[in-house]
Amino acid sequence: MSQAVDLAVHHDLANAEPRFVAPALVESGAAGAPRLIGGRCAKCGALSFPRAAVCTECMSEEIEKTELAGTGRVYSYSMVHQAPKGWSVPYALGYVDLTDKVRVLAHIDVPESALAIDMPVRLSVGRVGTGPAGEPLMSYTFVQA
Ligand SMILES: [Zn+2]
Repeated sequence: MSQAVDLAVHHDLANAEPRFVAPALVESGAAGAPRLIGGRCAKCGALSFPRAAVCTECMSEEIEKTELAGTGRVYSYSMVHQAPKGWSVPYALGYVDLTDKVRVLAHIDVPESALAIDMPVRLSVGRVGTGPAGEPLMSYTFVQA
């Protein structure tokens, strides 16, 4: 059964509390907006997301936790029609190049008819599916900036 993606937060649709997918990857930033948590190499400054164990630029293992830029542009995307159980389909999955040059794979919460390469987007949080107990599955997403 196909179901439209509903990324809005509807706490009244399920008794269960919303569950965040991969909660360690996102935090509420200083301005209250969600920010992705990546890594910054202490030796050469290279950024990574998710936070790398070893720097791909200099092989250092000193990777500090860092807050990444909250805006970027769509590098590429694809519409996903088959997904793990509970995930709402179809949805746009794409790479976003953040303004600090990190490329992030994420849900892009923009209607397919409006989605375009190089579109400016900003980080958000949205519903991506429904868990086994009926709880809303939440994740970081990108929306049109
Ligand atoms: Zn490095």
